[in-house]
Amino acid sequence: MPNKNIHTFIGCDSEYDVSKIVVFGAPYDCTTSYRPGARFASSAIRNESYGIETYSPYLDKDLTDIRVFDGGDLELNFGNPERALHDIEAFADKIIADGKMPFMIGGEHLVTLGAVKAAVKKYPSLHIIHFDAHMDMRDDYLGEKFSHATVMRRCLDIVGDNKIFQFGIRSGDRKEFYEAKGHIETCKFNFSALEETIGKLTDKPVYLTIDLDVLDPGEFPGTGTPEAGGVSFKELLAAIEKVAKLNIVGLDMNELSPVYDQSGVSTALACNLVRELLLQLYK
Ligand code: MN
Ligand code: MN
Repeated sequence: MPNKNIHTFIGCDSEYDVSKIVVFGAPYDCTTSYRPGARFASSAIRNESYGIETYSPYLDKDLTDIRVFDGGDLELNFGNPERALHDIEAFADKIIADGKMPFMIGGEHLVTLGAVKAAVKKYPSLHIIHFDAHMDMRDDYLGEKFSHATVMRRCLDIVGDNKIFQFGIRSGDRKEFYEAKGHIETCKFNFSALEETIGKLTDKPVYLTIDLDVLDPGEFPGTGTPEAGGVSFKELLAAIEKVAKLNIVGLDMNELSPVYDQSGVSTALACNLVRELLLQLYK
């Protein structure tokens, strides 16, 4: 019997009602400050996921053993970031209300704000773990309040002081670094403070946002604002393993830009990461 054509991330073909995690794409990149293209990431990840295995030798677990629904890509208004964020929030609201974990694939980093807004309504004491090369703490970028360069500042407006923990940070203007002190915790260059953070967040609801440019551009060149001196894939996996012990209520992965990924290696890495995140976080 031939199968009907369903195009999901590999191994994520369970029905919505029985799934605990819902993967969806937010293909938005309108505020990207340097090189756009992240809008193509979620579809590229879906396509290229068939180049990897569903089985993880790292974890001895398989995507075929868990139930994940792939909700496809949202249709987002490109000219109006607030409208796009509203639609992301509404979609994440539904997933969270149904007792499932939203796993959003950007898009540029701004998309995080929509999902965080949804998560904080259900979990008012929401904390955020943020992996990135960039602080993303500007109050505005060229006058624009909603930008991938301001996304964590907007998240701070929502969750409040001492609830955002950044790792891998190695870029931002001086004002961002100075003004952030006392409001968020910034671990520069690596994950050295992660263990300590995990200890603080054991009983807290946590949202995880991974800007893939936290990775070294040597390993992950396919991104809009590459920044030298990043972490390795294996260091990122080890960090995720620690974070997975927490009560993660939602997550996203963003800033893959397939148009700068000439060899396809960045997209393949992102596919591996989606698999590992799903297998780590599925409870
Ligand atoms: Mn970012
Ligand atoms: Mn970044």
